[in-house]
Amino acid sequence: VSPTTADTRGATALVLAFVAVTSAWVMVEMVVGAPSAYAATLGLGLGAGLGLLHGLVWTALLYGSMRLRMPWRDVVRGAFAVGVGVWLAASLGGYAKLGTRNQGLAITALVASSIVAMALFTACRRFAPDAVAETSPRRTAFVLLGVMIVATIVDRTVFVGLHPSAHATLRGASLAAGAFALLRLVSWRPTPPRDAYALLGAVAIAGTAFVRLHGVDMPTAMWGNTMVDQAFATQRGLTDVDGDGFSALLGGGDCDAFDPEVNPAAIEIADNGIDENCIGGDATAPRVDVGAMAMPTTPSPRSVLLVTIETLRADHMGMYGYARDTTPVLDRWAEGARVYERAFTPGAWTSIAVSSLLRGVNARRMTWVPFAETDKGRLIPAGDAPMLERDERGVQTFMLPEPGVPTVATLLRRRGMSTAAVVDDRFSELLDASVGTDEGFEVFVDADVIVGRDPDDQVVDLALQTLAGLPKDRPFFLWVHLFGPHSPNTVHEGVPQFGDTLLDGYDHEIRFVDAQVGRLLEGATARDPALAWFVTADHGEVLLEGDRMHGMDLSIDVIRVPLVVGGTTLADGREPAVVSTLDIVPTILGVTETPAQSWLDGRDLREPPLLDRVVLVDTWHRGFDGALLFDLIGATDGSILLVLDIMRNATGLADLHDPTRTPSTIAADYDIEPLVKAAVGYRAAAPLIVVD
Ligand SMILES: [Zn+2]
Repeated sequence: VSPTTADTRGATALVLAFVAVTSAWVMVEMVVGAPSAYAATLGLGLGAGLGLLHGLVWTALLYGSMRLRMPWRDVVRGAFAVGVGVWLAASLGGYAKLGTRNQGLAITALVASSIVAMALFTACRRFAPDAVAETSPRRTAFVLLGVMIVATIVDRTVFVGLHPSAHATLRGASLAAGAFALLRLVSWRPTPPRDAYALLGAVAIAGTAFVRLHGVDMPTAMWGNTMVDQAFATQRGLTDVDGDGFSALLGGGDCDAFDPEVNPAAIEIADNGIDENCIGGDATAPRVDVGAMAMPTTPSPRSVLLVTIETLRADHMGMYGYARDTTPVLDRWAEGARVYERAFTPGAWTSIAVSSLLRGVNARRMTWVPFAETDKGRLIPAGDAPMLERDERGVQTFMLPEPGVPTVATLLRRRGMSTAAVVDDRFSELLDASVGTDEGFEVFVDADVIVGRDPDDQVVDLALQTLAGLPKDRPFFLWVHLFGPHSPNTVHEGVPQFGDTLLDGYDHEIRFVDAQVGRLLEGATARDPALAWFVTADHGEVLLEGDRMHGMDLSIDVIRVPLVVGGTTLADGREPAVVSTLDIVPTILGVTETPAQSWLDGRDLREPPLLDRVVLVDTWHRGFDGALLFDLIGATDGSILLVLDIMRNATGLADLHDPTRTPSTIAADYDIEPLVKAAVGYRAAAPLIVVD
């Protein structure tokens, strides 16, 4: 056997070993999740495609470099190892975080990446066909199988869902270990023409996935399976011709393979004749003609108070069973009111939640305008970096609604009620009149401009003054937004404290705002005894040790909110049915005898509750440059949450009360069809639209 023939046979065997290991792996993952012939062929095809890719890379490296003389062989292999190491270090933030307060993390990332690079280089030399003859192939095979198992376990147990590049490296290592082990255990080396047939066969099998997935909804077995995800990500990445992150093949959803401005994560620009986000053609901006709306001539029988509290978690309030006495005042008010045990916000950021809540529609049914936020809390027109001041840094981009879908204030004003808002958005401008939050309010008080920082008591003073200034002969609608529980924590003299941690400080802020809401409820009820009142939060908060956040995910900590409704015809007591804070607007219209509006997404809470209700919640995040970082739609029935990850074109499932359950175990014993229908239907009927 001449060396060249041996090389060809070895190279083919290496590629086939990768194809065999990868396709077996992906197929098993798919079949375990959803046993069917469809899942099996899809798994086989996806795995063969990923195996071919990995096999060709290793073959080119090991057999290609053999044509070079030493030391050039080692230079090529070393360059490959260093390249992977540098990529890994960069994606783990190893360079970007150097010299910041995360210096320790940066050094860890650099050290870990160097170890990966050295391991790769060693593997290249160890498994190169020109290496010293194997003395104990069976022992090496078992060591490699051990490496494969360890890499798989680490991939599935350590920082799951974080650091995608590190996890991709682990999966790559796992595949390579498996393929090299197989080569050691099986001595078969194909000869011509069988090698050509075998390779053609692998290509044909890989092609089945492309054919079978064209325009088909994906089976739930694919969700959250690491190797399946990897197979998709890699092959879609390779077929993403225009580089917009979406492939037109393999269910990638890109409806224009050659235009980077068109893909499922693009913002749909209304009425420009282009279907940017590949949903239902070009979107039309919603326009409601409030002026043409017929209203009753008799005055509303009730006034309405709506209190939204920043970042307030239901499970940190006494009435929801919290062990600490954080809300003694509201607990008393709740005794004569209806308390919703499973209420959800329509949005995980203030901008989404408040905009949706005030209009009673889910976020994607509105038209939005992007604003870039700086570290000074200023909002400037998106894409206008030159407007930054000296020492000012850009942080992120928020979107705020364009007029189109009217706020409840607009409707109630037309109804003949006095409408007023007292709004504290503290160091941000997200709820300022300048971005349109004052729509429909005759009186709009930007509280933080008047009283400065840390003023829940002063904001309530302002609200009571505002109320006193409203005409006495008309029922009123007053909206008050209190900022207190939002970070950072402040200490309030004379208010009970619970300890020194971040969580203790948060509870202290809740105790402070509780008393202020009580004063507000007293004042408003004194003004109009026929007062319907609503107390809720814009969204919750994730509380970690030393850190807190919202908007960044759809965990129950963020999407569950308190909702207490008093002074309506609703019976006092607890309501276990799932509701959304989008239900507040239809209920306000109901109690003020304002005609119900066809475009509203919520339901009047006075109607009998639906026992199988599915509610929707949106969150998205954009960088200062406007680039989309993530875009999620959640659908929940109060137990299970389904998340459409639009950017990754993936779907996830979570048990809201048991975060350890995996998507496949949930899908195996839970009817997720209503959640899928709600989320997919919402996505298809309501694209996210922006005015051009
Ligand atoms: Zn907020």
